[in-house]
Amino acid sequence: MAGDLDEEQARALVQQWLDITPIRDDDAWVIIGVRETDWGWLIGWTNRRAAEASGGPRCWYPGVGPYLVDRRSARVVRCGSGHSVKHQVDLWRRGQLPDYPSPEGRDQLPEPWFDLRPQPGDHYAASRLAMTAELNRELMPGHILHGERAEPLAKCSHCDSVIYELPRERFALVHLTWAHGPAQPAFPQTVVLTSWADALEALGEHSR
Ligand SMILES: [Zn+2]
Repeated sequence: MAGDLDEEQARALVQQWLDITPIRDDDAWVIIGVRETDWGWLIGWTNRRAAEASGGPRCWYPGVGPYLVDRRSARVVRCGSGHSVKHQVDLWRRGQLPDYPSPEGRDQLPEPWFDLRPQPGDHYAASRLAMTAELNRELMPGHILHGERAEPLAKCSHCDSVIYELPRERFALVHLTWAHGPAQPAFPQTVVLTSWADALEALGEHSR
């Protein structure tokens, strides 16, 4: 993209990411606020139901930070929720926070993982929704992930494992049961990982 972005272009870039982020059928991700800075914009987002404040606490998806858009480079990053936004902006400006979500600068996933991480123009939105729906179907009260927001990142092509991203920079490696009856709280078998490095290491174990 040549030249500096204007606010409308920055919003459009972020909306492109929101459109491919999994959400329930009857809802949508919307931009709720834009703050301009000297380098670009902070763009806040939530789901429409929460924005309209019509549905109560069930409609909140906690743990999302704003998107940052650089006006010069058109680079986009989504803040996590583990640190303050200011801290993450400082890291990003120093080049110490990788662009996320972004196809560049992403770690390649080890074999045999099938990458489901969203990128504009991909065709995996239906797969992501299916992985989210199956997880929610299998989780009973008492399970470690019950009530968590989980976004599928990748699926193992050798077994029924899926890795999900959780709020606060955590990841869950889940062996889905695909069983018909309700699962016991011990299932689906789940390992929660507290860094991307740990997650990558756990993914590597499926290549053997
Ligand atoms: Zn596997």
